[in-house]
Amino acid sequence: MRAAVYGGAQDIQVKEIPEPILGPRDVLVRPKYVGICGTDLSAWEYGMYEGGLVLGHEFTGEIVDVGNEVTEWRVGDRVVPNSLIPCGVCSYCTSHRHSLCEDMQMVGISMNGGLADLVGLPETTLHTLPETVDFKAGVFVEPLAVAIRGFHRVDFGEGMDVLVLGTGPIGLLSIQYAKIKGASKVYASEIQEARLQAARNVGADMVINPQNESLSLRLENYTAAAGVDLVVECTGKPQPTAESFSVVKRGGSILILGISEEPVEVDFMTGVLNELTVHFSYLGYAEFPEAIELLADKQIQTEQLITRVIPLERVVEDGFEALTRPDSSDVKVLVEI
Ligand SMILES: [Zn+2]
Ligand SMILES: [Zn+2]
Repeated sequence: MRAAVYGGAQDIQVKEIPEPILGPRDVLVRPKYVGICGTDLSAWEYGMYEGGLVLGHEFTGEIVDVGNEVTEWRVGDRVVPNSLIPCGVCSYCTSHRHSLCEDMQMVGISMNGGLADLVGLPETTLHTLPETVDFKAGVFVEPLAVAIRGFHRVDFGEGMDVLVLGTGPIGLLSIQYAKIKGASKVYASEIQEARLQAARNVGADMVINPQNESLSLRLENYTAAAGVDLVVECTGKPQPTAESFSVVKRGGSILILGISEEPVEVDFMTGVLNELTVHFSYLGYAEFPEAIELLADKQIQTEQLITRVIPLERVVEDGFEALTRPDSSDVKVLVEI
């Protein structure tokens, strides 16, 4: 079968590898669409994963075979896997903090993923993809679960003003989730025009390009209390992360979803004087059912987020290489298997 195999930084090859061997409680899935995510791009740029790994942790597919002890799943079922496989027994797992699990496996990161004709997965990783969620939209279950988990960690309430920094996939999903959960106003800041347009299209009340105007000045004119209740940081860049401290109102919260490779220098004096709260949130696990339900109810738009669909053969040139160019204006690129 064909698979996109990771070799290290700037080394991914689409090649023939043997089909997965199923254990008694494994399920064989034929992936339909796979999303390329920021984590994969970091691995491409910096070399984070083990060589020989089949990439792809955001995907949908159809079951084509089941191990002989599998009872829950049948050939033909439409599925979306939860990419996290926590151990289930450590103190973090038993206190519902699965993303901190001491012995976690991750599909497409520590075990073979979906950028292949076939992938073998433990049956427990799978969720049913409802008929009302098409295979492309289902790719967003994982990133949506990441956004939802972030909001769950914050004391988020109706009527809040929210500012989303960075409108890549997680930012665009955060804008929509904030709206669904009753945010009063949702503002978005982004330097790429195509992504700003996407933010408008998914319902941001105001969009700001901080390269053209001052974020804090613009917000001052819009928000009653000089600042927003909640900043959701999705850029993963030090400068906007630091700026969060000056655009959140007194007593407000900052939710960090972006992963900055660089250390971030922040103004702790403002943090103390304004009694700010900073929440960090990593991955999503228990949030998968809520994410699937929102997509099934058509409450989340995903078409706006898909900028290109490419075949597996072109995953390096039109996927990884294109997405890591500085002038890339893509939001989410899907690979059609
Ligand atoms: Zn991801
Ligand atoms: Zn665990």
